[in-house]
Amino acid sequence: MSEPMIPKTMGQQFGRRSWAEPWKIKIVEPIHMTSSAERQRAIAEAGYNTFLLRSEDVTIDLLTDSGTGAMSDRQLAGLMLGDEAYAGSRNFYHLEEAVRTYYGYKYMVPTHQGRGAEHLISQIVIKPGDFIPGNMYFTTTRLHQELAGGTFVDVIIDEAHDPISEHPFKGNVDLDKLQALIDKVGAEKIPYVSLAGTVNMAGGQPVSMANVKALRRLCDRYGIRLYLDATRMAENAYFIQEREEGYADKPVAEIFKEFCDTTDGAWMSAKKDSMVSIGGWLAVNDEEIFDKARNMVVVYEGLHTYGGMAGRDMEALAIGIEESLHDDHLRARIGQVRYLGELLSDWGIPIVRPVGGHAVFLDARRIYPHIPQDQFPAQTLTAELYLDSGLRAMERGIVSAGRDPKTGEHRHPKLELVRLAIPRRVYTQAHMDVTAESVKAVYDMREQMRGLKMVYEPAYLRFFQARFARL
Ligand SMILES: *Cc1c(COP(=O)(O)O)cnc(C)c1O
Repeated sequence: MSEPMIPKTMGQQFGRRSWAEPWKIKIVEPIHMTSSAERQRAIAEAGYNTFLLRSEDVTIDLLTDSGTGAMSDRQLAGLMLGDEAYAGSRNFYHLEEAVRTYYGYKYMVPTHQGRGAEHLISQIVIKPGDFIPGNMYFTTTRLHQELAGGTFVDVIIDEAHDPISEHPFKGNVDLDKLQALIDKVGAEKIPYVSLAGTVNMAGGQPVSMANVKALRRLCDRYGIRLYLDATRMAENAYFIQEREEGYADKPVAEIFKEFCDTTDGAWMSAKKDSMVSIGGWLAVNDEEIFDKARNMVVVYEGLHTYGGMAGRDMEALAIGIEESLHDDHLRARIGQVRYLGELLSDWGIPIVRPVGGHAVFLDARRIYPHIPQDQFPAQTLTAELYLDSGLRAMERGIVSAGRDPKTGEHRHPKLELVRLAIPRRVYTQAHMDVTAESVKAVYDMREQMRGLKMVYEPAYLRFFQARFARL
């Protein structure tokens, strides 16, 4: 496959015209500036876990792009149109129409956020002893698959585990790995393929249209369903437009629909692409599965016409879906992430290449080669970034990977990363400069750094609440 050129900083070269955000700022939220002494105290109190910091103690918050986006004036106006009727809210019908129009699935059940939808689909289609192949695990997705009695099997291409490979579609499924699993366990033990676009844990890397179509053909041969984790699918569609032959002149929304049309359904964390504070949904084309989901949602989330969301949330989400697919929005969104990533790369700081859709991932394994993985190099790096400038990032390495449910041992992922996730429409280029300079300062001190030990470990999704102490 001929690899298309991936542009570096879009429009940054001398003599070119720059891009700018297709919005201007109407309201601002002050940031609390912290002193070094305050940060020392705060991170020690938080057990060196950035999830346990108070947001008041954070300067630039790149913990997550989840629920942290800025809503547009249209979305905020939508909040005032909330119809808080318990049943049959008009906002539900607006949301249903938006999902049908842009994603193309027939039936939709709202949920309070993405994991609510993962819970429903996992419980409905997974039987104990099943296997669920996917393009790299995601924390909550895999846990719900395991809680339903399934075993997740990673079938992503090898390049995804290699932070320096410049493959333009590192989210692709390796069809040979999937075929090998089918041959080994039998198609009847595989309820569906769990496909994420883009792949969060691989660095926000996209799946190509050619790959999803080939995957569809393989699934059809064996009668296996194909479900999409659509959390950042808008960003995936932008990468297809940028990198895949034949898509340069198509609007992102059209590419997006074509991709979704190749799958049987999707779950969604609307807190990402759709720029709302809370919300999610499950959508499928199969009426029988929809019927089960609609029945189950009333037990765990709320009535099937709100699923844990307020009417006003559903309205903001319906509007956010439409905004998330504007070409100029995505160009600025991904352009900002790339601006930060290319700055760090130019300074020689090891990051996951190519720069992904929602975040820049620092390669803690290469930054702290002297800290063994069992002493949590990525967790250490998140603490150091916070101490340097009040910048909050997230560990995506051995702590996030958790323990193998069968052996009880740490899972040792190949990637030991720190994620700098960029909220949508929130920070300016100056914030990106300050961030890059802080990373550089911490990088320059890398040699004297020592690791951490874990002093408290919760049973599920330990990265959220684990506590650490300095070695
Ligand atoms: C955030 C996320 C989820 C879970 O969604 P929540 O809204 O946080 O419950 C699932 N998959 C991916 C890829 C995500 O990034």
